[in-house]
Amino acid sequence: MTGIPTTGYHAWPMAAIDPKDVLKTLGIKAENDGAWAGEWLATRGPVIESRNPATGEVLATVRGATRADYDEVLRRSVKAFEEWREWPAPQRGALVRDLADAFRKSKDALGALVTMETGKILPEGKGEIQEAIDIADFAVGLSRQLYGLTMHSERKNHRMYEQWHPLGVVGVITAFNFPIAVWAWNAMLATVCGDASLWKPSPKTPLTAIATQHVVNRVLAAHKAPPFLTLLVGDNAAVGQPMLEDRRIPLVSATGSVGMGRTVAEVVGRRLGRTLLELGGNNAVIVMDDADLDLAVRAVLFGACGTAGQRCTSIRRLLLHEKIAAPFTERLKTAYGQVKIGNPLESGVLMGPLVDEPSAERMMSALATIKTQGGEVILGGKRLTDGFPKGSSFVEPTLVRSKKDMPILQEEVFAPVLHLVTVGSLDEAIAVQNGVPQGLSSSIFTSSLRSSERFLSASGSDCGLANVNIGTSGAEIGGAFGGEKDTGGGRESGSDAWKAYMRRQTCTLNFGGDLPLAQGITFGS
Ligand code: NAD
Repeated sequence: MTGIPTTGYHAWPMAAIDPKDVLKTLGIKAENDGAWAGEWLATRGPVIESRNPATGEVLATVRGATRADYDEVLRRSVKAFEEWREWPAPQRGALVRDLADAFRKSKDALGALVTMETGKILPEGKGEIQEAIDIADFAVGLSRQLYGLTMHSERKNHRMYEQWHPLGVVGVITAFNFPIAVWAWNAMLATVCGDASLWKPSPKTPLTAIATQHVVNRVLAAHKAPPFLTLLVGDNAAVGQPMLEDRRIPLVSATGSVGMGRTVAEVVGRRLGRTLLELGGNNAVIVMDDADLDLAVRAVLFGACGTAGQRCTSIRRLLLHEKIAAPFTERLKTAYGQVKIGNPLESGVLMGPLVDEPSAERMMSALATIKTQGGEVILGGKRLTDGFPKGSSFVEPTLVRSKKDMPILQEEVFAPVLHLVTVGSLDEAIAVQNGVPQGLSSSIFTSSLRSSERFLSASGSDCGLANVNIGTSGAEIGGAFGGEKDTGGGRESGSDAWKAYMRRQTCTLNFGGDLPLAQGITFGS
């Protein structure tokens, strides 16, 4: 069966929220400058249109930065860093506490803007602001816990310890699909660590960045802080590439596709700078024959259709034990049929559009490839145009029956396409799951302790995130987030991810009158 029951589609248009009101609340004008460093600079680069993918309408325009704008913003960022690093860390935390409160106050408006610019549904748009609030709260506590270790010296009357210092200006390059949260994961930690951060958002989501910067600016002004959180909207030639080559940026934190990450790693690596890479995933869920299928269906539905399949952690491959594959597939088809697709600002809608028309076209082209490789579309598979606004980019969430050796299973198709693959055992499932270049998120549904522990063991999942009885997406900020292999190896957010934003210094002090050498070496008299 292909096609989804049309009762799933919502009537159009019915938006309860007027985009103009949201933009006004957030201080967005029809035309905006794209660079801030203590003040909004009159940028002179190419104009970027921010489009609502649900309606095809232009929300507002942003004039991007030129190379000269880049140089000016970086000069100011370096100066701001030199002042900011002198603030005691708990004072830096006090500023972040006010940022968290400012995000709380702006949550509804910012969340609606995220929805209008990306097409993700309103609860997910607001959820993203909640992530910014959560990481800011985390960072406030962290500002009093940037601990170093004390070691025992092998030499008498010596003391040895390590301390952590601010690193410098951190370049933060973000993807379109989390237009605030990813910046916040980086910027809130970098801020309490005493760094400045220079944000280059995706050109697909410049308004969210500008609105966020407006919120930030009010807090910076209230604290009389230097402009250590700066913004540069612009293309790769004017902003992206210079950030990679610039030795004044000791760390580039980049979130996006694997191809982008390779470029970032090569260019920053050539100058021996640091990178923190959060790249594409190709996440699998294993459903064993002893799984709670109710839980599994709900988790797979959210993981595959949430954000219209445009999360780095979206479920791409569903590995079904052969004993439950047929009934589970039927239940999933029923669940997919109840997904309301429509204006993401409306309540009840579960899936909005893809971010733009090229993304929808790429999904159609991937489905054509899937068919040539022997895959069978068993539900969905079409672009939705009839009854949807011209210029919008809606698609059907799609289920494909696939074979484990189809080459396209090695790729991340950034759309709601879920491959269903039947496996005969847990060992086979783990081998298929790990048999791709990416290594971000993974999960297993099972009620067996042995299976879950095997999945979590050293020879189990090779991903940065491994879950039992929950889906692959929706990570909490308390844990370190990131993935292995082509996903880039970076870790952001909780745990000790803060260490990436600081430089470690090992200090040895001699408080005695002798000069013993390490390893008992004697040198001269
Ligand atoms: P993208 O790679 O097209 O762009 C990401 C960002 O990189 C944008 O700001 C873009 O302008 C910038 N960029 C691209 N080339 C550059 C270059 N040469 N120099 C400097 N900057 C450059 O990705 P996208 O389409 O915006 O986002 C989707 C991708 O991001 C998916 O692959 C998704 O899995 C991945 N992603 C990963 C994570 C994670 O945490 N692992 C999170 C979100 C998204």
